[in-house]
This record gives sequence, C-alpha cells and structure tokens, in this order.
Amino acid sequence: MERQTATFNANERVRPALVGFEPYDPAFSPCEVNLSANENTHPLPGEVQKALEQAMLSTPLNRYPDPLANELRDVLAAWHGVGRQNLMVGNGGDEVLFNLLFAFGGPGRSLVVAPPCFEEYKNFAKMCETSVVEVWRKEEDFSIDADALVSAAKDAALVMITSPNNPTGDLVEPALARRLLDETDALVLLDEAYVEFADTEASFVPWVHNNPRLMVLRTLSKAFALAGLRCGYLIAHETVVNVLAAIRQIYSEDVIAQAVACAAVKSRGKIEPVVRSIVSERDRLFEGLCAIPGAHVWPSSANFLLVRMADAARVRARLRDEFSVLVRDFSYAPGLSDCLRITVGTPAENERLLAALAAIVEGQ
Ligand code: PMP
Repeated sequence: MERQTATFNANERVRPALVGFEPYDPAFSPCEVNLSANENTHPLPGEVQKALEQAMLSTPLNRYPDPLANELRDVLAAWHGVGRQNLMVGNGGDEVLFNLLFAFGGPGRSLVVAPPCFEEYKNFAKMCETSVVEVWRKEEDFSIDADALVSAAKDAALVMITSPNNPTGDLVEPALARRLLDETDALVLLDEAYVEFADTEASFVPWVHNNPRLMVLRTLSKAFALAGLRCGYLIAHETVVNVLAAIRQIYSEDVIAQAVACAAVKSRGKIEPVVRSIVSERDRLFEGLCAIPGAHVWPSSANFLLVRMADAARVRARLRDEFSVLVRDFSYAPGLSDCLRITVGTPAENERLLAALAAIVEGQ
C-alpha cells in the first residue's frame, strides 16, 4: 500500500481523449471594477430583486428538483412562442453545449466552428471525441466566409455559430443560416447567449418552427444578470429535446435555479429597461474607446466591445494593477493579437475604464 501511494498518479489512468485538459481559469483578480466576463453589472430594479429573493427563500430544499424543469420550460415556452416540447434547460448554456456534443458528436463525427469564437465549443468537442473543423473568420472585419463554412459543414454532424459572436460582437447573417440549412445536412446551433442586446429581429428562434435541424441556445447569464445561478436553455425540434432529456445529468438544474429563473423570466418586462441602458452605454463606450489614440474598436451587438491597441497585454495588466479595472485579454489568441474584450459596465464603471485607458495611453 505504501509503495502504491508513492507511485500513484491518476493522470496515467485518464481516458485518452481527456488527457491534457486544464481546469478553466478565467484569470479573475479581485478588482473594484470587473469588466472581464460579459456579466450584467447593472443593478436590477428593486421590485425584480425582491421577486428573485422571494423565489429563493420560499423554495424548499429537502426535495429533489423536477428533472425536466417543466414549470420553467412552460414559462420560457410561453415567452418564445414555442411548446414545452421544444425546450430543454441546463446548468448554464455550457451544460447544454456539452450535452449537444455528447449526444450528437463522437468518434468519426465532426463539429464545424468559425473562430475566433467561444472556446468551449472546441473543448467540449474534444472531450466527446468529436473532431473540430475550424473555418477562420476574415482578419479585418471578422466576417465569415460563407462558401467555406457551408462547404465544411457538408460533412459535419454539427455546426456551432454565435450570434452575436463572442468576442467579436457581430451577428450571423440570416442568409448564412439559410444556406447551412438548405445546402447541408448538419445540425446547426445558433448560440444566442447575447442576443437580448441586439435588435429584436436578430433572433433565430422563429426559425425553429420550420427548420427541424436549427437549434437556438439562450442563457439567463447575461441580459438577466444571473451568471451565478447557472441556467441556460435550448429551443429546438422536439426530437432534439427528447434526446437531450434522455442523456442529461438528471438533477443538474437545482430547485433554486428553477424557481429564480421562473421569477426572472416572468419579470422580463421590468428587466428590459436595464438591457436598453446597457445598449446605450455600449454606444457611448464605443465612442469613448474610438477616441483613444491608436485604438481600433469593432462594432458590437452584444454587451461587450473588442478593442485592438498596442501592447494590449501590458495595458490590461496596468488597468488591473494601477486602476483596479479588470478586462479580458485575448492577445494570446490566434486572430486576436493585441485585442482586449471589455464588458459594457454601468456609466460609472465605463467612465472609470475610459479615464484609466486615457491615462495609460497618454503616459506611454
Ligand atoms: N455561449 C457563449 C457565446 C458564451 O459567451 C457563454 C458564456 N461566456 C456561454 C455560451 C455559456 O454561458 P452560460 O454557461 O453562463 O449560460
């Protein structure tokens, strides 16, 4: 036994497909202003906050959750004009993404993505032994080469595209989604984690009715200011939903998450003005960032902006260490050299960021 303790190393026993994965580290540092994770930093109206707290406090914890979260599915279904059978919830959008790859990926199958995009698609695909085909966006404006994407998707089990895209902020063109559905046989996921910050007609949810291979991912983590709660959901054809229902972790959506999510979705009319004010702050922040000498800012339909500026990694470190402002550095990522992603904060947070950036750039 002693001998075994000295030589034991679990890494040698890991399933081959899972060797080399590292724990997710969002590189959070305690800062007074955190604009690094695309969260909603605005306070919710008091009335909504009270409704959420009430839901939390009145939920008994001694019973297991409803595994299919039917009450929440009904509330979401009523909002989106679909049926309960078209909806599956998960422990954040992340769990839904994982389950899609778990269910529809696997050895001999591939996922097509259009990077730079959310990196978890690729990680989850690898964990599920699904090969990944990357169709890189154009460097200047991050637009997608539609012909290349459609051609790659012809042999794929799944395509995952993001609208608005993280971290580039642009929307998927309806014509591209149309071509993916008409010219390929792949399952097509439109990830709409940030769509509430875009124009209302940007969502592909209405397409689900007539396009059984189209699936839309949504989350309460962004517009609804509930990133800590962990609730995401998929709107899709009922057979897709049934597959996911059968393979999911049975109790991954806990009772508190179900109850608070129901209350939040029912309060969405009162959350809407918060979303509108983030959108108008985004436009103000865009102007402010454009005014910084040497900065290039891409237009965004989400609650964040991508900025390219000289020495981005050093700028990010100075923002953090000298001004207690945290933003996300993407300068290490292919296609994103010298890029920072900045979440749209409250007016005071945005002012503080702009003043800090101006001070850093002036002093350089
Ligand atoms: N999709 C995209 C594009 C995201 O940026 C995120 C979160 N960063 C998610 C999905 C998952 O969000 P959550 O698990 O918090 O619902």
